[in-house]
Amino acid sequence: MKKIALALTAVLGLAASGAQAQNYPTRPITMIVPFAAGGPTDVVARIVTDHMSRTLGQQIVIENVAGAGGTTGITRAAQSQPDGYTIMMGHMGTHGAAPALYPNLRYDPTKDFAPIGLAAGTPILIVARKDFPAKDLKGFLDHMKANGDKVNMAHAGVGSVSHSTGILFNSIIGAKPTMVAYRGTGPALNDLMANTVDYMTDQIVNVAPQIQGGNIKAYAIATPERSPALPDVPTTKEAGLGDYQVSAWNAVFAPKGTPPDVVAKLNDALVKALSDENTRKRLQDLGGVIPAPEERTPESLQKLVESEVARWTPVLQAAGAKAE
Ligand code: ASP
Repeated sequence: MKKIALALTAVLGLAASGAQAQNYPTRPITMIVPFAAGGPTDVVARIVTDHMSRTLGQQIVIENVAGAGGTTGITRAAQSQPDGYTIMMGHMGTHGAAPALYPNLRYDPTKDFAPIGLAAGTPILIVARKDFPAKDLKGFLDHMKANGDKVNMAHAGVGSVSHSTGILFNSIIGAKPTMVAYRGTGPALNDLMANTVDYMTDQIVNVAPQIQGGNIKAYAIATPERSPALPDVPTTKEAGLGDYQVSAWNAVFAPKGTPPDVVAKLNDALVKALSDENTRKRLQDLGGVIPAPEERTPESLQKLVESEVARWTPVLQAAGAKAE
C-alpha cells in the first residue's frame, strides 16, 4: 500500500511538473548576462530576447551579474532552479576558455547545462584608442616591439573572450602589455574612447559603431573575410598577421535539469528570433553572424561546447596564460 502511495505521488508529481511545463512560461523569465550592461554579451542578449519574449508571451528580464570574466554570473545561473525561469547568455569565454584558467571553476561547461542554442557569431577585431601612434597593424607591431612595456591592454576579466583572444594575440606578436581588467568590454570601450587605455581584442558587435563613427581605430578583423558591417577594415591576413584567426560565439543555456519541453520552447523562441528579419538585421548591422539552421539546435551547441573546451585548453596553456 505504502509503495503504491509512493508511486502515485511520484506519478502525480511528474504530471504536475509536466503540466507546469505545458503552460510555461506563466511569469517573466530572467536571463543572466555575466558582464556589464552595454557590452557585446549584453547587446546580443537584448536583441535576441526582444523577439524571444514575443514568442513566449512573457518578458525576459536581463540581469547583469558581472565578475571573474563572466564565471560569477554563469555559476549563479548554473545553480539556479532548473525551471526555465532563469536562463543565461554564455559564450566562448565562459563555456570554452574558462576551464583552462580557473582550476576551481564551480561548473563544468560540458555537463552542468541544458544547452538551448547558438545566438550569434561575433568576429574579433584588434582595436586601439584613436590617438594610438600607429596607423596600421604593421605600425602597431613595430610600436609594440619598441615600447610594448608602456602599453595597456583592456579586457573583461580572466577567461572572458577579450582576455583569451587577447592572450592569444599577445603570444603571437610577442607582446607583454599591462593587462587592465574591466567588468565587461562595454566599460573598457568607454576608457578606450577616453584614451585612458590603449588597445583590446573585442567582439564586433561592441566595437562596430565606434569604428564606423571614427571614435576608435580598427587594425584588423581576425576572420578569413572582411565583415560586410566594416568593409574598410582589413583581415589579419591582409594586414600581415594571418596566424591570428579567431571568432567568438554567444549562446543561450539553461541550468542542467531543465525539463525537455521547456528547453524545446526556449529553442523554438530562439530559432524564431533568428529567422526574424528585423532581429537578423539588428545583429548583422553590428557585424554579428547569424548561425545556420543546423547550428541552432541544443545538440549542436553541446558539441560546440565540448570541442571549444578541448580547443582552448591547450591554446591558452601554450600561450602561457596564467591560471587564477
Ligand atoms: N563578452 C565580453 C568578453 O568576454 C565582455 C562583455 O560582454 O562585456 O570580453
